[in-house]
Amino acid sequence: MHLREAALAVMPRIYLSPPYVANEEERALLLEAFDSNWLAPLGPQVDAFEAEFAAAVGGGHAAALASGTAALHLALLILGVGAGDDVLVSSLTFAASANAVRYVGARPVFVDAEAATWNLDPALVAEALEAGARAGKLPKAVIAVDLYGQCADYERLLPVCERWGVPLVEDAAEALGASYHGRPAGSFGALAAFSFNGNKIITTSGGGMLVTGRADWAARARYLASQAREPAPHYQHVTVGYNYRLSNLLAALGRGQLRSLAERVSARRSVFDRYREALGHLPGVEFMPEPEGHRSTRWLTCLTLEPEGFGASAEQVREALTRADIEARPVWKPMHLQPVYEQCPRFGGEVSEALFARGLCLPSGTGLTAPEQQEIIERVLAARQGAPRA
Ligand SMILES: *Cc1c(COP(=O)(O)O)cnc(C)c1O
Repeated sequence: MHLREAALAVMPRIYLSPPYVANEEERALLLEAFDSNWLAPLGPQVDAFEAEFAAAVGGGHAAALASGTAALHLALLILGVGAGDDVLVSSLTFAASANAVRYVGARPVFVDAEAATWNLDPALVAEALEAGARAGKLPKAVIAVDLYGQCADYERLLPVCERWGVPLVEDAAEALGASYHGRPAGSFGALAAFSFNGNKIITTSGGGMLVTGRADWAARARYLASQAREPAPHYQHVTVGYNYRLSNLLAALGRGQLRSLAERVSARRSVFDRYREALGHLPGVEFMPEPEGHRSTRWLTCLTLEPEGFGASAEQVREALTRADIEARPVWKPMHLQPVYEQCPRFGGEVSEALFARGLCLPSGTGLTAPEQQEIIERVLAARQGAPRA
């Protein structure tokens, strides 16, 4: 039996974004690494994955790591961000973007999203940097997130950062395969982080990549990620390192997954298009916009529901889906509303709060079938007040 059919037979649940194996080639690469050199923690698969990945995201240098979070952590260390520093972070994101700031002892300063992209609002970033300059304390870095697979508006963001000489880190964890005016996600930041967690566009079951135009920074990342071992036989250390490297075996899996990247992105975009065709015309429904020049991965299909117009709130729809064993999620809860971060300064917040209040993420897996998607759509429609029960 095909792998997926076997899984469905015992587990009919529809997940938000489950791992997907595109073809036999992926298994073959993994088994080849297993048979040849799987004992080596580092090795040829890691080197090859780094080279192929860098090529896929527009060049530069890549360092394969244990997670996207590790990539963000190392990006901040490489930029010299440390205790007492401020870092601007998009408030509408997954906690990992902000947690990395805390790992280096710095303070996140949250900036609201703009409605057009759901990403960092360039006008608010300008305001925050000007405020920092006036106070004599410029933030040490800006972390822009390419949310749900869509690039931030770098044409407006980068000049603002450049004006104050503040480096930009791109959290492209959800955006592998996206582009903005033809340039790939991950090529905009001084450093960019990708994730290969099980729910992302490609997966190594767990893993990440740091990408940068600077060879010395990539080398620094590999050094810090390998316990900061100096080139000496006796384990010499002059700095605190981390155990953040991706294993050779998982790199082989990543290489296999990367080969089907274009198909994966187009599958997710088709999922989005089918949802929009079925639901987009209804009152109270708005899908996450994709402005001119953007090509999102549509990692997750996100929409907002206006309860009065639609006849059900996002939460009511989510609960109806849960009852049908279908996993849906609210849009990320903004970081400035999280108990762990509510003491941090912020600029704006209303846009991300409104998106959180009305937003819903629908199952968007690369392998989502048309009948599965039809069932989800019917359940969404049936959740409306006065609609016939599904
Ligand atoms: C998944 C994700 C991360 C973290 O990646 P891991 O590989 O799970 O550590 C960071 N930022 C964003 C926006 C993510 O979605």
